Amino acid sequence: MTSAMSMPRLTVSTKARKSIARRHPWVFSGAVTDEPVDIEPGATVAVVSEQGELLARGACSPHSQIRVRVWSCDPSETIDERFFYERLRRAIDARQRMPLIRPCTARRLVHSESDGLPGVIVDQYDKFLVCQFLSAGAVYWKPVIVAQLGLLLPVQGIFERSDVEVRAKEGLAPQTGVLWGDTPPEAVEVQLGELRLLVDIVRGHKTGLYLDQRENQCRLADFSRGAEVLNCFSYTGGFGLWALRGGAARVTQIDASSELLGLADRNLKRNGLSAELVAANVFDQLRRYRDGRRSFDVIVLDPPKFVPAMAQMDKGCRGYKDINLLAFKLLRPGGILFTFSCSGLVGPALFSKIVADAALDAGRAARVIGYLHQAADHPVALSFPEGHYLKGLICLVE
Ligand code: SAH
Repeated sequence: MTSAMSMPRLTVSTKARKSIARRHPWVFSGAVTDEPVDIEPGATVAVVSEQGELLARGACSPHSQIRVRVWSCDPSETIDERFFYERLRRAIDARQRMPLIRPCTARRLVHSESDGLPGVIVDQYDKFLVCQFLSAGAVYWKPVIVAQLGLLLPVQGIFERSDVEVRAKEGLAPQTGVLWGDTPPEAVEVQLGELRLLVDIVRGHKTGLYLDQRENQCRLADFSRGAEVLNCFSYTGGFGLWALRGGAARVTQIDASSELLGLADRNLKRNGLSAELVAANVFDQLRRYRDGRRSFDVIVLDPPKFVPAMAQMDKGCRGYKDINLLAFKLLRPGGILFTFSCSGLVGPALFSKIVADAALDAGRAARVIGYLHQAADHPVALSFPEGHYLKGLICLVE
């Protein structure tokens, strides 16, 4: 255990001091006025003001623009096994107080900064946990975090899916594999409300499912009775399953990957449901529908992140506009559009503007009847608004 006195010290500007006082968990490299040399990536540093006052303890990422991610602002809190046990326990307990999440056997247990554990993601799929360690500090404490998770939950296996691009910003290479216990089977079955879903933990996107859409998928059911529904960017079919569950007359799911549609097909069969599955590029397929004068009652647009970095802002926004414009053209009068962006850099106001421009260019009047966001198990700490990345609109078209 290292005391604050013997711990390496990193001095920050007054601006950063104020930001830490507001409990923002990031210290940017530009705000650092003095830092230790040759520090081990992820090691804990004492963050101090120019006056030498202890502000926080955090993980140092020497290769990142985000130089420190704060573990704790409490001067009496030591960063050790006990600290991680407590933070993990708190995050896991919080899920018990989330009504729509509690009955599911798939859920996000730890959501990084917003659960007080920057860089740490833990998702549960029945008896398996899947972790992502996205920052140097998270990697530094990985063995401790895995051990504490094993103490907190009776699991069969813990698997790592740290194969994500953001790790490069921390100087970290992709990493996957078994961390503890058994290797997950090719498909793990989970219960989401009334539906059962198969999850490919080892090869699926992210940790296996887009759990952040859980509540929005459920919401779609309310709009689906008797409707002809088009689910674009369907992945393994979450939105489509809920539409059918809600009494949709017909569901068409489009995804570029026929392999993913294979899993979508198994999910449909597992629930005794059926849908039309189309392996195609959504941009092209929507144009084909437009040219063929196809129309739908409900359309879901849940594309991948079109704006992963500022450099893609213009191109990404054009992508959002394009698919939304096409969707507005394909909707019948009285139709419903569920449209999303998971690009954190595209804020809610900008996203609404893109959708408004798309409706205008399509010559359709529409009203927003619902604002959607990431599910409750992907919380946003009030001190960390950057944590809000998924936004969506339910539009009623005239
Ligand atoms: N709606 C899904 C998650 C969508 S993830 C859910 O709720 O589970 C984005 C999906 O879009 C991925 O499955 C990916 O294969 C697919 N995709 C990406 N670009 C595409 C494109 N241009 N056309 C069709 N599918 C695409």
